[in-house]
Amino acid sequence: MSFSNLGLRAELLRAVADQGYSEPTPVQLQAIPAILAGRDILAGAQTGTGKTAGFTLPILQCLAANPHDKGRRPVRALILTPTRELAAQVRESVAIYGRHMPLRSTAVFGGVNIKQQIDNLRRGVDILVATPGRLQDHVNQRTVDLSAVEILVLDEADRMLDMGFLPAIRRILAILPKRRQNLLFSATFPKEIRSLAEGLLHNPEIIEIARIGSSAEGVSHTVHPVDRARKRELLAHLIDSNNWSQVLVFTKMKHGAERLAKQLDREGMRATSIHGNKNQNQRTRALQAFKSGAVRVLVATDVASRGLDIEQLPHVVNFELPLDAETYIHRIGRTGRAGKTGEAVSLVDHEEREMLSGIEQLLKRTIPQIVVPGFEPGPRSPSPSSKAGQHAHRAGRSHGGRNSQSRQHRRPGRRGGNAGNSRGHTH
Ligand code: AMP
Repeated sequence: MSFSNLGLRAELLRAVADQGYSEPTPVQLQAIPAILAGRDILAGAQTGTGKTAGFTLPILQCLAANPHDKGRRPVRALILTPTRELAAQVRESVAIYGRHMPLRSTAVFGGVNIKQQIDNLRRGVDILVATPGRLQDHVNQRTVDLSAVEILVLDEADRMLDMGFLPAIRRILAILPKRRQNLLFSATFPKEIRSLAEGLLHNPEIIEIARIGSSAEGVSHTVHPVDRARKRELLAHLIDSNNWSQVLVFTKMKHGAERLAKQLDREGMRATSIHGNKNQNQRTRALQAFKSGAVRVLVATDVASRGLDIEQLPHVVNFELPLDAETYIHRIGRTGRAGKTGEAVSLVDHEEREMLSGIEQLLKRTIPQIVVPGFEPGPRSPSPSSKAGQHAHRAGRSHGGRNSQSRQHRRPGRRGGNAGNSRGHTH
């Protein structure tokens, strides 16, 4: 199946060919004809599936096929994304795929001066990519006109929910024209997203791109059991001995990300980080340095990494496992993208065993565990069903995200600790 069979016009086919895409990805195969037919879409597709082109190409075509009144350029397609980075990247995709067409687009997001955005909006755009918070600011200041929106995209809806954007989204929905096409993309479908979708979508075409684990056959998952205190050393060893040239490393906390990147950098690994304490410019610079190969290791927190478009990323490392299994899927969505092969490596200490079994349940597979010689974890009962294990798990849950992350992790006794000792240390 080629792009030309999908009913796209010549300008778009040229843009796709410019990008070197030879055939549509599964999400594109399903989404493009449905969107061109005017259908609402509910798509379970995460970053790395080609979803951006999957909605951008048909939107460009729909807008071009039905030009608006001369002169006036109200926003006709509105794309909401959770983060600034994703907004900037989606906008870039709109510009790339729309390069042979006379449509205009811009992005508005927080963290940068609003004045330039107001000027851009005043000049008129056909396609607006926005984060909900900043868009709400523009709505309040009456610097954006959303009265002519024909197509709405909610991209990475689950992340927008996680980031607390649902109320802002609902306020924006309330001022959009009632008759419009709605496209909802989400990697996961928690209750709130299902109910949002129910109220929003009319007879949607449901697109379920099998998730990582079943779909991304190109991704190999490995767990390296290791003591917490030796994770950094092991990471440096893996990067070095495997000669990895581009590796994305996830930590749970922004301070952890910053510290790890600095330490690796001091050790000559060329590393930088991207996290919530960095401003927009710093994040953009870090991402560019990583993409260009100037730095080898990018350490990121989950929120900051959301939607990063890094092509052909071969290695993703979970320095710490995420608290929930679905975040694991988001993280490794960065590798093995669009049919390429990738490797997802997790450094797992004793305390993370329970989380690991949660992830394995979701993936419906057991992840092979390989102990790296020289990094054997210290003795401690590894059984996830042991009392100590259950206790650690419950404590982690009840503390919730931030608190549990800031707790001091117990250092497993490497020098002959026994089960009794270990339990004594547990929280
Ligand atoms: P996305 O899921 O939209 O973040 O896209 C993931 C990556 O796949 C991006 O780097 C795109 O440039 C790339 N991509 C999108 N469509 C195709 C395609 N049909 N063939 C090859 N790569 C693609």
